[in-house]
Amino acid sequence: MFTSLYTRIGALALVVVLALASLAWLLSDAAHRTGSSFRWVIHSATIIETTDEALGDLREAESGQRGFVLTHDLAYARTFDERIKSAATNMARVVALTADNPVQHARTREIARLMAERTIALRRPLDLGRAGDFAGARTFVASGRGRELMDAITVRTQSFLDEERALQTVRVEAAERRLTRSKRLSLAGASIVAILLLLACTLLIRSIRRPLAAMMQAMTELGRGQKARIADGMGSREFTLLARGYNAMADRLEQAVVEQATSEQQLQIANTDLHSQGEALRERNEVIELLGGMAHRMQAARTDDELAQIIRVFVPRVLPGLGGALYAHNNSRNLLVPIAHWGGLTLNLDGFPPDECWALRRGRSHCVVEPGADIVCGHVCADALYHCEPLLAGGEVMGVLYLRGRVPAESRFRLTVLTENIASALVNHQLQRSLREQTIRDPLTGLFNRRYMEEALALEIPRSSRSGQPLSLVMCDVDHFKRFNDEFGHDAGDAVLQAVSAEMRNRFRDGDVVCRYGGEEFTIIAPGTDATALLSRVEQVRLAIAELNIRAGGQRLGATSMSFGIATWSNTMDCDGTSPIKAADAALYEAKRSGRNCAKVSLVEPQQAAA
Ligand code: GH3
Ligand code: MG
Ligand code: MG
Repeated sequence: MFTSLYTRIGALALVVVLALASLAWLLSDAAHRTGSSFRWVIHSATIIETTDEALGDLREAESGQRGFVLTHDLAYARTFDERIKSAATNMARVVALTADNPVQHARTREIARLMAERTIALRRPLDLGRAGDFAGARTFVASGRGRELMDAITVRTQSFLDEERALQTVRVEAAERRLTRSKRLSLAGASIVAILLLLACTLLIRSIRRPLAAMMQAMTELGRGQKARIADGMGSREFTLLARGYNAMADRLEQAVVEQATSEQQLQIANTDLHSQGEALRERNEVIELLGGMAHRMQAARTDDELAQIIRVFVPRVLPGLGGALYAHNNSRNLLVPIAHWGGLTLNLDGFPPDECWALRRGRSHCVVEPGADIVCGHVCADALYHCEPLLAGGEVMGVLYLRGRVPAESRFRLTVLTENIASALVNHQLQRSLREQTIRDPLTGLFNRRYMEEALALEIPRSSRSGQPLSLVMCDVDHFKRFNDEFGHDAGDAVLQAVSAEMRNRFRDGDVVCRYGGEEFTIIAPGTDATALLSRVEQVRLAIAELNIRAGGQRLGATSMSFGIATWSNTMDCDGTSPIKAADAALYEAKRSGRNCAKVSLVEPQQAAA
């Protein structure tokens, strides 16, 4: 029942309030009784005083009567009337006041009756005096009648007053006793209430002190970071609930601390991740920047050499520590030919067919990271660890990137971007080469055109001038070519041009530049060859052409021949190439004049040729 602290406090407060209420009631009753006792004392005092006044009034009335009888002064008569009236009033009051005490009441009524008689006796000489019979009045007064009555009144009044005073004394004593009792009651009551209050406070403090100390200790320990919990038996329901609430709070706090620690750990991991991602991003940016620079240079590369140089410089920077080679696909030969290598690699410069590379066969990376872990490409020696990355563009093989050793996983991104860049650079390079080919080649015969011939001559003349090596030139023309056009049509003429062109291309040396000068005329620049040596080769060409059996549109075109003029450049000629062309042209003219199908060497002196 008293498990609740509130109930205990309420019960103790009720006991204290009840004690206080009882004390108040007792004190109030005592005060009431004391007051009542004192009212009786005052009551007796009032009776005594009023009786004394009534007796005094009677005596003054008697003096007034005598004064009037002796002096005839009406003022005495009026005094008499007033006193008599006052004495009667006071006596009537005394009679009324003693109504509670039958003995005293009988006495006062007797005194009142005697006073009434005395009043009548006193009024007689006064009436005589008022009627003018003062002598009779004096006689009546002098007779002393009524004196006994006055004595009787005095005696009875004295006796009545003595009794009343005795009564008053008894009442005073009773009132004082009550007052003393009230004081004791106050002291005793206050002490009891104080003890009760003390007891209640002690009980309350005892109920609160132990659980409060337990809670304070637990909270202090919790504040120090210790695992503090409060046991269930706290003595009261409220503190038990408080302890449970505290325990739950401590549990949640501990859980929150653990969660916070976990969150911080996760945050740290995320931070580390972010940092490493930032590092990776920075590295990627660097790689992209590096590859951007490489791509930019490759786009601007004019020749295979330039392209190879760029590859040799940049690829080891993008993939440090890995030697390798770049093979480009030669469409006409269907071979992968090396265009650049780095990292001290020795290569077979002849290249290899696409089928020898598993990366090209499968169209994806192919690597051998451990000896015997995978099939080895035909172009690689058997025990090598290597990585082949195909270079593809629009499904077409552009080449293959061969890397010796193992490509680390973190370099995969670099490799991917590098491969894409090189593939697109190869596409671009091939496109440029094809455009250039178009500008320097004659589309009908596939030979170099006249523009290229002039450029080549402008390069070869200074080179020959520097090196002292001879430089010769052939001008040649198909004999009676117009006849083919006229007899077999223009297409037949074209076929003749293609046939003699192929023959010349195959029969002159690789270093010779065979060009179509225009129409059915051709020019061959032969660096490092003098006229005599060139003549013998020209003769071979001429004979081969003469033996051609050209067919077009299903019919034989008949025999064909060519005339040749040979000239050699010398330092005495000017450097723009006009002079040797003119000299060779003159020799050609000479060959035509000599009956065609022959070769003539220019006999014109260089000075003359220049002229
Ligand atoms: P000659 O032996 O004196 O050199 O006589 P020719 O008939 O070969 O010489 P000519 O200058 O009289 O004729 C050259 C002809 O070549 C004229 C022209 O119509 C023809 N021709 C020029 N270019 C082409 C070409 O690209 N295709 C064809 N089918 N004919 C061409
Ligand atoms: Mg001609
Ligand atoms: Mg001709």
